[in-house]
Amino acid sequence: MTETEKTITQGRLGAAAAILFGFALVSLCGPGGSEAAEQPAARTVAITFDDLPHANAADPEAPVPPTLDAVRQANRDILGALKAHNTPATGFVVEKRVEEIGPLGQEILKEWVDANLDLGNHTFSHADSNALDLAAIEKEIVDGERSIGPFLFRSAARKPRFLRFPYNHLGNTPEKQEAIAALAAKHGYTLAASTIDTSDYLFDRAYEKALAAKDKATTERIVAAYLDHTREQIVYYANLNRQVLGYEPPAIMLLHVNRLNAVTLDRILTLFEEAGYGFTTLEAAQADPAYQKPLTAATKFGPMWGYRWARDNTIKIDGSTEKEPPEWIVKQGG
Ligand SMILES: [Zn+2]
Repeated sequence: MTETEKTITQGRLGAAAAILFGFALVSLCGPGGSEAAEQPAARTVAITFDDLPHANAADPEAPVPPTLDAVRQANRDILGALKAHNTPATGFVVEKRVEEIGPLGQEILKEWVDANLDLGNHTFSHADSNALDLAAIEKEIVDGERSIGPFLFRSAARKPRFLRFPYNHLGNTPEKQEAIAALAAKHGYTLAASTIDTSDYLFDRAYEKALAAKDKATTERIVAAYLDHTREQIVYYANLNRQVLGYEPPAIMLLHVNRLNAVTLDRILTLFEEAGYGFTTLEAAQADPAYQKPLTAATKFGPMWGYRWARDNTIKIDGSTEKEPPEWIVKQGG
């Protein structure tokens, strides 16, 4: 993926959604706002990871290509933190990267399954569906099943099977969005939603560079900034969803398998616990009616579902109140 695509599709979702959707500006309640007191009694969140086996593995644009040991260790650390918090999770697999790292790819998938975690299809090559026709998209889905197939399909009754498209690109026109949803259904998939984004890849890029420079003070500052941003984004998206839907559906956290999340996941899960969340599966989360209604408004971007629901319900949202990662993080990541 190019830097520009990453920035547009993952890093500027709020502003992009506001501009794209042409909404008038309505202020959302930010962290510490008056709505903070109205937390529902039982909040839940499903944790999801994209880009298994590792976001920077076999990625020519990775800031620092990880060693096989780093790939193995990142997954072990993530599985360890999930276990420590008794947290279910779904890992979305990029088949091409599994194949490119050799036997370790299969080992990692097996470790996820042995830990009773779920695997999903993140397509074969992590291509941008905006640039593909339907035949190519179908091939990406089918080829994306090579490794996860034996895990996913060993029980015919095992449903749903989740598919998440790279960059959360679901079709840049209403017709294409509908056709992509039909394709997913034809292959037995439910499209995975996501409601909380932290631009974790931007912080990871900065973190990898600081690690490579053996700059311990900066790695610590990055971790602190990342956790602050994550805490704020959890609140922001809860408020967004409540404003749009009138309640908080189960949240779905979007993370990537990378070294930064490997070292911070324990603290990220603690942030959720401190905010009153219990952990749930993606399947249970998406059983909520909010996720059952087909999306109608199309976008070439990959906004979180709160923005999509706002568009579908013609509710005006000021996406510019969503905080971006600090400028020095973006700079540090190059
Ligand atoms: Zn991805």
